Amino acid sequence: MSTPLYIYFSLFFIIYCPMCNLCTTLFFSEVDLWDWDNLLEENLQLCKLLIVPNKETGIPEQMMEGLTEEEDEQLKNMLKRLNTIVEYAKEKDVRVMVDAEQTYFQPAISRIVIEMMRKFNKEKAIVFNTYQTYLKSSLTNLKVDLDLSRRENFQFGAKLVRGAYMEQERERAASVGYEDPINADYHATTDMYHACLEEVFYQIKQRPLGQIAVMVASHNEDTVRFAVEGMDRHDIKKSDRLICFGQLLGMCDQISFPLGQAGYSVYKYVPYGPVEEVLPYLSRRAMENKGILKKVQKEKSLLWKELKRRVKAGQLRYNPLENSTVG
Ligand SMILES: Cc1cc2nc3c(=O)[nH]c(=O)nc-3n(C[C@H](O)[C@H](O)[C@H](O)COP(=O)(O)OP(=O)(O)OC[C@H]3O[C@@H](n4cnc5c(N)ncnc54)[C@H](O)[C@@H]3O)c2cc1C
Repeated sequence: MSTPLYIYFSLFFIIYCPMCNLCTTLFFSEVDLWDWDNLLEENLQLCKLLIVPNKETGIPEQMMEGLTEEEDEQLKNMLKRLNTIVEYAKEKDVRVMVDAEQTYFQPAISRIVIEMMRKFNKEKAIVFNTYQTYLKSSLTNLKVDLDLSRRENFQFGAKLVRGAYMEQERERAASVGYEDPINADYHATTDMYHACLEEVFYQIKQRPLGQIAVMVASHNEDTVRFAVEGMDRHDIKKSDRLICFGQLLGMCDQISFPLGQAGYSVYKYVPYGPVEEVLPYLSRRAMENKGILKKVQKEKSLLWKELKRRVKAGQLRYNPLENSTVG
């Protein structure tokens, strides 16, 4: 089992159009930013960079009249903090995974993460973006970013998840009146996840070894099995350290431990921070991941089974971590 070498964090920032909340969703894919070093420029007014095509004329125009000084400062501070985190991570040879959020923030988050990849992922994938496969657009987004990394010669890092905001996404799409961005059903999401994995396996084999690194972040046994079999089919070795697995701490150890013992890189997602900030975060995750909680029943019965086995075998001090891998 690997020590938690990854830093996880969510980007909570809103680039909000005061005129019309919807245009942030419709047009974010058009938002363009300067490269990372320019973004950190002290005297730059960031709102001037947020240019989107006018809905009627198609002519590019500034998305917002202007951020207040305070908002502009907040945005700059966020970028500076990200820069500090990633510079430190690079120095310590630790990877940074940026969480994916709702579709109405995500294009802005992805855009910034790609800029960070361009800057920091020259020799190694330090910065990872997250792709939510419950989205109809996820395979296309993944392919576009993979292609960009090939053309611009930076290393690509991705975390693949199913996605945690399905209900919110559907409610918002219905209330604002745009197409539901989520796949029609659970099977379509699973097919999408597996299609994204296939694309990653294919691209790994097309490039020099080590250009693409991916975390399979899932509690789904079939998806983990699909990934393990896919690695075998495409001759991607565990020792290549290109594919790793991630589960939440305290959940689905019946997946994490055997993977670690079999020599795969496995990470446990550890929420970390002051109690007053972590508790609301965890309760939100519990609400968003109601489905996961159903799996706890299965885990409880497996724990009982293991406890009984250890009592019978006189192995109360048995340590499953002994034979595992540290990656
Ligand atoms: C290490 C780690 C990091 C994570 N980081 C993020 C992150 O950055 N952003 C994020 O959004 N989530 C993140 N998650 C949560 C993740 O997106 C899932 O909500 C969670 O893992 C459950 O999916 P599963 O594959 O584990 O399990 P499963 O139980 O197999 O899948 C449940 C998921 O399937 C999808 N689904 C269920 N019903 C339907 C339906 N009717 N139609 C379409 N899709 C459906 C939903 O995405 C649901 O969450 C993370 C999870 C882990 C373990």
